[in-house]
Amino acid sequence: MPKFYLTTAIDYSNGDPHLGHALEKVGADAIARYRRLRGDQVHFLMGMDEHSQAVIQAAEQSGFTPQAWVDRMAQRFEEFWRRLECSHDAWIRTTEPRHRESVTELLRRIERLHPDDLYVGEYEGLYCIGCEEFKQPAQITGGRCIEHPTLDLVPTRERNHFFRLSRYRDPILERIRSGEFRVEPAIRRNEILRLLEDGLQDISVSRHRLAWGIPFPGDSEQTVYVWFDALINYLSATGFPAPGYQQLWPADLHVVGKGITRFHCVIWPAMLLAAGLDLPRQVWAHGYVQWEGTKMSKTAGTAVTLGDAIDRHGPDALRYFLLREVGFEADGNFSWERFDERYTADLADGLGNLISRSLAMLAKYRNGVVPGGGEPTTLDQAGTAAVEAYARAMDVLDLRAGAEAAWELVATANLYIQQTAPWKLAKEAREQELDTALAALGRALYRLAVLAGPFVPGKAEVLWQSLGLPGRAEAAEWSSLVAPPVEGVATTRPEVLFPKPASV
Ligand SMILES: [Zn+2]
Repeated sequence: MPKFYLTTAIDYSNGDPHLGHALEKVGADAIARYRRLRGDQVHFLMGMDEHSQAVIQAAEQSGFTPQAWVDRMAQRFEEFWRRLECSHDAWIRTTEPRHRESVTELLRRIERLHPDDLYVGEYEGLYCIGCEEFKQPAQITGGRCIEHPTLDLVPTRERNHFFRLSRYRDPILERIRSGEFRVEPAIRRNEILRLLEDGLQDISVSRHRLAWGIPFPGDSEQTVYVWFDALINYLSATGFPAPGYQQLWPADLHVVGKGITRFHCVIWPAMLLAAGLDLPRQVWAHGYVQWEGTKMSKTAGTAVTLGDAIDRHGPDALRYFLLREVGFEADGNFSWERFDERYTADLADGLGNLISRSLAMLAKYRNGVVPGGGEPTTLDQAGTAAVEAYARAMDVLDLRAGAEAAWELVATANLYIQQTAPWKLAKEAREQELDTALAALGRALYRLAVLAGPFVPGKAEVLWQSLGLPGRAEAAEWSSLVAPPVEGVATTRPEVLFPKPASV
């Protein structure tokens, strides 16, 4: 079984998760679930970035110690991810001792292998607390950070440790161009290539006398810069530097937002090269969830709570909407109106109605048992085509096209019911034709229970159970989709899977 080590960005602990965080987590989760279906040994990591300056502020404002604050936030975030059915099998927090050990060891390795990659210097610049980053002129508009137009930049001047990032321009360029280190989608790769072609400046990797953070090895007055610290989480979660870490490292895929590609596609690979470690195989940078055209983040001053969005139509519906409508590549818009429309059309009238009608007819005409169905039908052809289109899309992380392929099969199956009109076949006692139609619907439902799983995992399992199949949909053999083994299974009728809201 090939291993697939997948990570999401770790989140700042300065406020509740919002829809932007949720998009990234459910997108990565859909990828993890798909890779498991394809037989990979998936290791899926999520976690918290707990050393930011914003944490100190948030803790102070709320009367907590930083540690008590981050403990509370870590719990809150993970509760949300559990509610959204994230299937991560590892969770890391940068305040954990194992992380501190990894950070210290990585810096020591750089010192040992490339002693002049780390040096002391004076830094002067404008610091954005929202980004936890010194901003370059191109990243500033109207005197403020492009990402955080409501926050003041802080003029800062101090003695820091520097990392010789400039030395790594060519090796990184080479690895991106050769495809050894994949940056996707292409629009993000091109941005990074341009940035590299323009040349790199060395970066400060410590802050002076910051009480909340990891002490810089060998310098008690300095704290490891939060981004340098945070990126190492992907490595510390593998157990680095303990020998077994190479069973997971290098990571197969880092899923991040488009705003932090410079850290993941330039600084992180440079750090790894300096420490003599392998680069991750791929970074995927998704777009932002927009709310009335503005990036959705707490510091940008917009808010629709994640709790409200989950409560609207349930966690599966939110996952589906984010991945199908907002998308996992470019920026996409979220609105209640559009969410309600999609919910009604695709889930209540689409998948939900198909399941309910098919299982009702099986109950009525065949006591719930899926008959032997003879020759493949047009619905089976559509099923095979959907599986192929789905795999092609999911293999290249085009989650929207993956969902489209599965829901096209939903539409075809609903149409098949109209065209074959099993109730008419029953009335006219055309038993063989009725068997053929009901068996084809059974196979379509089987395929959908598997294909829909990465998007609507909870409902997909209910469908699987209703089909009377053994085990779980998420553990189905991918090869079974060629000829779904449903003949003779005893189906039952579930409660309505996607109830229509009383008034929307
Ligand atoms: Zn910023």
